[in-house]
Parts: sequence; structure tokens; C-alpha cells
Amino acid sequence: MSDTQVAFSDLDLPSSVLKSIIELGYETPSPIQAACIPLLLKGQDVLGMAQTGTGKTAAFALPLLSRIDLKLNKPQVLVLAPTRELAVQVAEAFQAYARHIPGFHVLPIYGGQSYTLQLKQLRRGPHVVVGTPGRVMDHLDRGTLVLDELKAMVLDEADEMLRMGFIDDVETIMAKTPAERQTALFSATMPEQIRRITKRYMRDPQEIKIASKTTTMENIDQRCWIVSGVNKLDALVRILETEDCGGIIIFARTKTATTEIAEKLEARGYAAAALNGDMNQQLRERTVQRLKDAKLDILVATDVAARGLDVERVGMVINYDIPYDTEAYVHRIGRTGRAGRDGKAILFVAPRERRLLKQIEQATRQPIKQMDLPSRDMVQNKRLESFREQITTIFNDEDMAVYRELIDQLAVDTELETLDLASALLYMAQKEKPLILPPEPEFKPRRDKDSDRDSDRDSDRGAKRERINYADLDVYRMEVGRNDGVQVKNIVGAIANEADINSRHIGDIRLFDDYSTVQLPKGMPVEVLQQLKGVFICRKKIDISLMEGEIARPAPRKPRTEFKGKGRNERGSSDRGAPRKPRPRRDA
Ligand code: AMP
Repeated sequence: MSDTQVAFSDLDLPSSVLKSIIELGYETPSPIQAACIPLLLKGQDVLGMAQTGTGKTAAFALPLLSRIDLKLNKPQVLVLAPTRELAVQVAEAFQAYARHIPGFHVLPIYGGQSYTLQLKQLRRGPHVVVGTPGRVMDHLDRGTLVLDELKAMVLDEADEMLRMGFIDDVETIMAKTPAERQTALFSATMPEQIRRITKRYMRDPQEIKIASKTTTMENIDQRCWIVSGVNKLDALVRILETEDCGGIIIFARTKTATTEIAEKLEARGYAAAALNGDMNQQLRERTVQRLKDAKLDILVATDVAARGLDVERVGMVINYDIPYDTEAYVHRIGRTGRAGRDGKAILFVAPRERRLLKQIEQATRQPIKQMDLPSRDMVQNKRLESFREQITTIFNDEDMAVYRELIDQLAVDTELETLDLASALLYMAQKEKPLILPPEPEFKPRRDKDSDRDSDRDSDRGAKRERINYADLDVYRMEVGRNDGVQVKNIVGAIANEADINSRHIGDIRLFDDYSTVQLPKGMPVEVLQQLKGVFICRKKIDISLMEGEIARPAPRKPRTEFKGKGRNERGSSDRGAPRKPRPRRDA
């Protein structure tokens, strides 16, 4: 985070794009955006040293949107991305930023998706194509993707594409695009092969590297939680319940997120408020004063709104969304540990943001300890402890005589023993914070490192697969099937990514014409299921639901020729036993 703040409105972006950014709740450009957007708008080539989490997608998507000629129904921007997930994400980002550009059309293309569908979509003439190198190559070879009107090309996560063996394809694709096109290349590292591409195919690229200052923060205990199994809000609440720490500042990326989180915390009984750039100076000052006076315990803030905030009683900072860079991280956690006190800092890291975590650790030269979420027992003990304290305080501070009499009276009226009466009152007193929590579901989040890549996942499913205990699995139905072009790996990918379930805990997957079934660990939390429901595979919402009464068992190994996956009640076989469609040349 730099001290001289640029505003989005300073960046000469089209008003339609600015409108979308405001609606999305972005407050200020991230450092990579502030540096890249003006250069890309001027038509220059850019070499950005940046990774996921820095805001790099908007850094290229926002300016390149202004280059699109909507009347020309041909690809004018091509983005190459290493994985299906990233391609879809980038396409969704384009769509979100272009929500006020009527007639704009972006298309993600990747291996595993049906060619017929892609051909139909390509014929509609998307303005932006976001694809994995293998599939883009296939379409170029078949003549179904024509790039003669291409104005700009983006190589996203170039070092990942190199690592996954796509770099030759990338070069071949680049060689087939018009020489005068603009190029932006983003990479977390700059290995030699990538340097070579930049020299061969880019014109005077402007290199952007966001420098990070290092600072010592010995008085701050830094921990991180790798997001898995539990959603971030529930994780946040568990942490808030179990950590003792005066005032708390929670950092989120967008203004919208700050209000949402603050409202949800308030609804759960916390004294929380948002602090963001939508509030005028006076209101912000008043809110900070309330934190100082302990009328509020939690502020949910954006980076900008919390700049320079100095409140001694802040004992903990929670990075709900990972900051863009080390400098922002250092600034954020510096809001605690003021005036020589000790402070705590917790960072939520989505699996795909691990690299940013590493970068922060390297730049600060301080390890950030990985933490587990507080367990059910810890939450329960903490609740009991604070309940005990409340009782003691009331006993010490209040006159209880009249209540003792009332108890005697109630015991007579209800004909209950005092102990029974006390237990009924205790039951009533716990309200939304039950003192006895339900047992923790047997839900196994994935724990292995860096397995959020397609390639890792596939090998994970093959070589390292454990024996599955079918008694631990439930059967779920998804409304996407063979007719939609779905393959087993699409399902594994989507579930592993969205529900954060290690592919080795996913049981058999069966594909039918109009739907599929998948066996997943019992006790999936409702919110994870809810999140999965909205996931798209092959452009269709999976709308996953539990198949009540269906028992998970190994898929029958039928002779291949007998397979006829048809109706709901007809027995299918797992994809491993089913006849395979001819594979596309490459599965990018
Ligand atoms: P990226 O590094 O492109 O993967 O972006 C990471 C996340 O940051 C995405 O969820 C974006 O929506 C969000 N984001 C990007 N730029 C901004 C911004 N200027 N303000 C707030 N959020 C942003």
C-alpha cells in the first residue's frame, strides 16, 4: 500500500467500468492496479511481478475493456491462464467489470469441456476469450478460433504455465497473433524461459514490481489459518469466542464486505461496526472514538479507512481477506501492539493465496504460524467460563434476596426440585449461545499442501488414493450429466476447490445422461452444501442435493460394453468402468 493514494477516478477508466467498480465496493486501486492501469491504457506492454490476491485480474481487465470495439464480434483480447479454475475466474471478473457495457461478451475455454458447446459459443463472436493453452491451441489448429483482430493478449500466471508444461504452446499461440498486439504478462517469478518470451514477443515491456518494506513486529504474535472445511465467517466467530483481546480490527477488501461482516457480527451479539470510505470523516472519527471508549469491541475496516488508526486497546487484528502485499499486511497488523503492548494477528489464507502468504513471510522475514481453528470443546469451555464469571459477578454485585424468594415460590408452584428448576433456568439463560454444543461433524477438510491445482488433484486421485470407507460417505446428486459434457475430473475439481474437500475423501462419482452422483464425507456443514449448490460445472449450476436413503457403496465393475447410463433409477457405473469418450488432444 503506497502512501500517495491514487483513486480509481484518477485513472481515466471508462465511466461504465468505474460504475461497476463502485458497485463491487472497491475503494482504491491496489498497488499493482495503480501501476498497471495507466500503462495498459496507453497501449504499452507490461510485465507484472504479481500473483493471485494482488488484484492483478482487475489490473489488466479494467484497462483492456476500454480497447474493445463492441461492434466487432471477434476476439480482441485473449487471456491465457494455466488452469480451468483461473480461466473461469478471469472470465467472471471480465463479466463483472463489464456489467454496464451492454452487448459485451467473454468466453472461457478449457480442456474437459465439450467441443460442440465451445464451437457454438465461439461462433457467437466473443470479444474476450480466456483459455487454457492446450484448448486454445486446439481451436487455433481447427480454425475455430481466429485471432486476426486481436488487440491485446495477457499471459496470466506465466510461471505456472511453464511449470505445467504449457510454455511451448504459449509461444506457438503468441506467434500466431498479430505482431502489433499489446501484451501483458503476469508472473510471480521470472524464470529464464519466461524472460526469453518477454524479449522475443514483447515491445519495451514496462516492468512492475511492488517493492515491500520490511519492518520488525516482534511484539505481535502472527498466525494464519488456511481456509478449509468451515466458512470464513464461522471461523471468525469461533476465533472471536475463544481469544481474549480487548478491541479487535477485522480487515476486509471491499466496503460492501465490511458492512456485511459487521452486520452479521452484530446479529450474533457482538458490539461491531464497519469503518470504510463510504462514511464521512466525522462519522469515521466517531466510530473510532467508540472503539476507544469500549462502546464497540470490533471494527471491520478497509485498508484506507484504517490508515494510521491508533487505539491502544486493540489487542488483535484479523485479516479476513488477505492484503494485496506485504506493505499492507505490515500496516494492518501494526494497528495492534500499540504503545509497547503485545498484539495478536491472524491471517485467513485461501488455499490459492498461499503464495502471497509465502511472499509476506519472506519480506517480513518472520514466519507466520499455521493455526487450527478452536475446537468445539474450546468454544464450549470458553462459554462455560464466561457464564461462570457472569454468575459470580451478579452474586457479588447484586442483591439476590428477592430472587431467592422467587425461586422458593417457583419451586412450590411448579412442584419441581430446586436443581430441576435451576436447570430449566439455565437452559433459558443460554439463549443463542448454547452451553452444550452439538458434536463436531466428522468432516474431513483437505490438509495437504498446494493441492488446488488440477494436475496435483489428478495425481492425488490416482497414486495416493486411500481406501475409502463407504460407511463414512453420503450420496449426493448433481444436476449436470454426460449430455452437458461433464467428466469425472470436472466434478472432482469443482468439489475439491469449492468445498475444500481433498479429492482423496471423495468417493465414487457416477455419470448419467442428465445428472451425476458423488459420494462425499458424512456431516457436510450446511453452509458448505449451500456454497456447492451454486457452483457451475460445464456452465450449469450443479444444484447438489443429498440423496436421502441412498447408501454409498463401491461402483459395480460392469463390462464396459454394457454401460447405459440413463434414468434416475438405472444403475450406472463409475466413470472408471464406463466407456471413455475420445479424449481431447490436451487437457489443459
Ligand atoms: P486477484 O489478485 O486478481 O485474484 O484478486 C483477488 C481479489 O481481490 C478478488 O476477489 C477481487 O475481486 C478483489 N479485488 C481486486 N481489486 C480490488 C480492489 N481495488 N479493491 C477491493 N477488492 C479488490
